Amino acid sequence: MATIHLGALRHNLARLKAWAAPARVMAVVKADAYGHGLERVARALDADAEAFAVAALGDGLRLRAAGHRQRIVVLSGLDQPADIAEMQRLGLEAAIHHEAQLPWLAEAQAARGRLRVWLKIDSGMHRLGFAPERVPAIHARLRAMPGIDPEIGLMTHFAESEHFAGEATAAQIARFQAATAGLEGPRSLANSAAVVGWPQAHADWVRTGGLLYGLSVVEGRNGADFGFRPAMTLRTRLIAINHIRRGERIGYNGTWQCPEDMPVGVAAIGYGDGYPRSARSGTPVLVGDVCVPLIGRVSMDLITLDLRPAPAARVGDPVTLWGPELPAERVAAHAGTIAYDLTCGMTRRVLFVED
Ligand code: PLP
Repeated sequence: MATIHLGALRHNLARLKAWAAPARVMAVVKADAYGHGLERVARALDADAEAFAVAALGDGLRLRAAGHRQRIVVLSGLDQPADIAEMQRLGLEAAIHHEAQLPWLAEAQAARGRLRVWLKIDSGMHRLGFAPERVPAIHARLRAMPGIDPEIGLMTHFAESEHFAGEATAAQIARFQAATAGLEGPRSLANSAAVVGWPQAHADWVRTGGLLYGLSVVEGRNGADFGFRPAMTLRTRLIAINHIRRGERIGYNGTWQCPEDMPVGVAAIGYGDGYPRSARSGTPVLVGDVCVPLIGRVSMDLITLDLRPAPAARVGDPVTLWGPELPAERVAAHAGTIAYDLTCGMTRRVLFVED
């Protein structure tokens, strides 16, 4: 069961706003709000969020259908000419990142309401965006289009802003500034890590996902270390305790061998729920409030635990996979990934509740 802490979401947005001010905050709710539930998160933040950002046009549609009237920026979902009229109808804003989109935009009809756009600049990540030297010309072209709002946003995305002393981000900022010098329009560069680590990149709008959910990608530092609260607790129960003999191997492929006769707990969660199959033996899990190591392979529905540190554990005890008492960042590090990947990975089998 995943519990979504609505109070934590509100706290985190307030903290982001305070941190980023005077820059404004776009609450990034793409990928079903990083697995926390798009409608649920948007409802929790509706009164406080000035703008939302999504990846796909369909998510913008879902937000409008749920009655949200904020600005909504679609970060990558303008894929075909027909998307433009749909965005105008819904009052969505489009990130423009590719030459192929320009003729479609030129056809946008002003009568439908001028489309707000953000010009995406590739300042060094080499994923989406126009090369810096192309930016003034593209900006001018967009401004001349009758169906496009003349206030063109200027946007870039960082590849590694979690490295606070990294030269790559400094270089991206410099390239962005050079490319946009003298151009009018609001600017947006910073993701979560840049809000806390690169104040010189706050500009007019920050676009924050991770820290909104209390999650950090800064190595060795959890969201809580920056004053944010995890918004998801993933919990299950212990469904069996078995006493296994020294030398026996646990689970698929026998990747873990008992060093002594010992109690092995079985908890009802697995990769079929989104718990990462890549979690290695030694990944921390809480049984009650005792931290024990995962042992052996993660199965589809079950995990196995070394219960030697928790001799009082009983079948039925709560088992916490991550949450405020066990940072998802710590679990992710044992699974060779980041906390965002864990929360995004929740499957439909998981029951969601709110508190
Ligand atoms: N902006 C863009 C273009 C993104 O792709 C993302 C997420 O990957 C974000 C902002 C938010 O990043 P974060 O969740 O690290 O705040």
